Amino acid sequence: MILCANPKAQYFSYKEEIDCAINNVLENGRYILGEEVSLFENEFAGYIGAKYGIGVANGTEALRIALIATGIGEGDEVITVSHTAVATVSAIEQTGAVPVFVDIDSKYYTIDPSKILKVVSNRTKAIIPVHLYGQPADMEPILEIAKRYSLKVIEDSAQAHGALYKNRRTGSMGDAGCFSFYPTKNLGAIGDGGMVVTNDEELANKVRLLREYGWKERYVSHYSGWNTRLDEIQAAILRVKLKYLDSDNKKRVRTAKLYNTILCNNGIIIPAQRKDSQHVYHLYVIRTQNRERLIQHLKSNGVQAAVHYPLPVHLQPAYKKFANDYLKATERVANEILSLPIYPELSREEIELVVNTIKEFKA
Ligand SMILES: *Cc1c(COP(=O)(O)O)cnc(C)c1O
Repeated sequence: MILCANPKAQYFSYKEEIDCAINNVLENGRYILGEEVSLFENEFAGYIGAKYGIGVANGTEALRIALIATGIGEGDEVITVSHTAVATVSAIEQTGAVPVFVDIDSKYYTIDPSKILKVVSNRTKAIIPVHLYGQPADMEPILEIAKRYSLKVIEDSAQAHGALYKNRRTGSMGDAGCFSFYPTKNLGAIGDGGMVVTNDEELANKVRLLREYGWKERYVSHYSGWNTRLDEIQAAILRVKLKYLDSDNKKRVRTAKLYNTILCNNGIIIPAQRKDSQHVYHLYVIRTQNRERLIQHLKSNGVQAAVHYPLPVHLQPAYKKFANDYLKATERVANEILSLPIYPELSREEIELVVNTIKEFKA
């Protein structure tokens, strides 16, 4: 079976170095907030082009802690999309704030900036653009609206490590950028991990305290924090993989281009890339009217395809209460999208098998 994502293949690509990095931590004996975490924080923030990086337990926590550190909570509204991983919305709700959904642009699958003003109220405190599938959201108009209405911008860059928008990395343009290192992400740990990056020193300090009980010095809490630390072993693994992120992203882009050229005339909508942007293809998402049959056809030929995501957040039982009537593109797209296998280790033969299987499919 050709898998949609394959973190195990990635482990084997860098096995020797990863094993060595893990072993160093084991023998070093410092297992929480040691040198690996602080080195990785600096290296990753430097890569993104932000001054500060604070490692946390996962991507959902990165979003939640960034929101809390910017002062968002009970009674506030946070604008985001419904076409996203549920984590984006869960993080908002966990702070006590209310998520307010804006429709996506059906060409690029990211927030439609022209629809934001309609939902801005005097309770709106922040916008979370999601760089979904590895495609940067259209940040310029978003940042402009945020400036005009004094809103914070927290980028959800959990699917876009290394993506570029007008030569700036996603995660470096807002007040804070949030990343997940879930194993299948473009930069993935062998377990959970996340990071907040920011250029704001005060915000960085607050996040740093909040992630460990609000401690400035040990055992004295200055804020009501909690425990959401990135662990030393994951940081050591991520330091190895960060070195290969650009070349791994290039492999994803190469695969996407190959898919594009072969699939574009098969009654399938291929992914569009925004001008002046570099998409990093965390997912390669096509659209088709015959999705369920195509999934079955692929499966019977040894190809796993998946749907990201089958049910928009506002239609899920837990989040129906936040639904509104202006999410038509979100609802339409959710019925047609299909993610084909994409990961750096995917071979040319495997790509050919996928495209040939699709070509044989009779719509
Ligand atoms: C993966 C993901 C998250 C959450 O990351 P976790 O590390 O799984 O908590 C948040 N937002 C988006 C868009 C994601 O894809």
